[in-house]
Amino acid sequence: MKKILFLLSALCPLLLFSQTDWEAVVIKNIPVKGNISYLEGRGGNVGVLTGEDGILIVDDQYAELSDKISQTLSGLSSGDLKYILNTHYHGDHTGGNENLSADGATIVAHENVKKRLSTPFYSTMWDREVEAKPEGFWPTETFKGVKRMSFNGEEIEIHHVPNGHTDGDVLVYFKTSNVIHAGDLFVRYGFPFIDVSAGGSINGMIKAQNNIKKLASSDTKIIPGHGKEANYEDVEEFLGMLTGTRDIIADIKKQGKTLDECISMNPLEDYKERWDTGGFISADVFVRFIYETLD
Ligand SMILES: [Zn+2]
Repeated sequence: MKKILFLLSALCPLLLFSQTDWEAVVIKNIPVKGNISYLEGRGGNVGVLTGEDGILIVDDQYAELSDKISQTLSGLSSGDLKYILNTHYHGDHTGGNENLSADGATIVAHENVKKRLSTPFYSTMWDREVEAKPEGFWPTETFKGVKRMSFNGEEIEIHHVPNGHTDGDVLVYFKTSNVIHAGDLFVRYGFPFIDVSAGGSINGMIKAQNNIKKLASSDTKIIPGHGKEANYEDVEEFLGMLTGTRDIIADIKKQGKTLDECISMNPLEDYKERWDTGGFISADVFVRFIYETLD
C-alpha cells in the first residue's frame, strides 16, 4: 500500500504544485459551439460561456494561472466575469476561485463543495490531512439537487450526482446549446480517479454516466474534466468500462478475497491496454477504488 501511495504522490497532478513551471503554461481556448468554449492549461478544463450578460466559467484551474486565464477571457469578451461554477472541490478545478472572484463574481457549487473547501478532513488516498482553504475560495452560492439558471440566453441546469468522483460533483448542462461540462465524473486520461475519502464511489461514477446519457443525445458535445471534447459514444465506452470492471471486482469480493488477494489476481488484465495508460491511475489503484467502495 505504501508503494501505491508513493507512486500516486509522484504522479498526481494535485501534488505537483512546487514542480510546475507556471510561466511555461499556455492557456489555449478551444471552441465547442456558438459562444461556448473551453480553456486548456494545467488542471481541469475551464468551460466558458460569453455573451451580453458577461462571462460565466466552469472551474478555474490553479491560482498561479489566474492572470493568464483572465487575459484569455478578456480576449474572448469585453464583459465582466459574473459566474464561476465549480464542478467539485479539487484544487485543479477551484484553485482560481479567490483570485478570479475578487471583482465580485459569484461562485456557485453544490453545498458539499463548500463543506470540503471549508473543513479539513483526512484523506486515505494522500495519507494526510486535506486542509481547509481560506474563505475567498469558498462558493458564495450553494444548492442541493438541481440548480437552474439563465445567462446569455442559455438555459443552464446544474445537476448534482451524489458520491461519484467526490460527494459534491455536478454535471453542467448548457441546455440551449446542447453542451455538457462533466467535470471529473467523465475524464479521458484512462482509469478515473475516485476520491474515496471525499465520498466518491464506483457506483456513483456509473450513475453519473447514466445521468449524462439521460441528458445527452448523439449530437451533444461533452467537455470532460480532463482531456479533449467527447461525445455520447465516448461516454458509453467509459460506462462499459466502469460497469465491466465493477462486476469483476464485485464477483471476487463476494468470494471473500481480501483487497491484496484481489489485486494479485490481476483482475483487470483485459482492460489494461485501453485504460491503464501509464499516467495517473494504474489498474491496481483502480481495483482498490472499486473494492473499497462496493457495498
Ligand atoms: Zn477531481
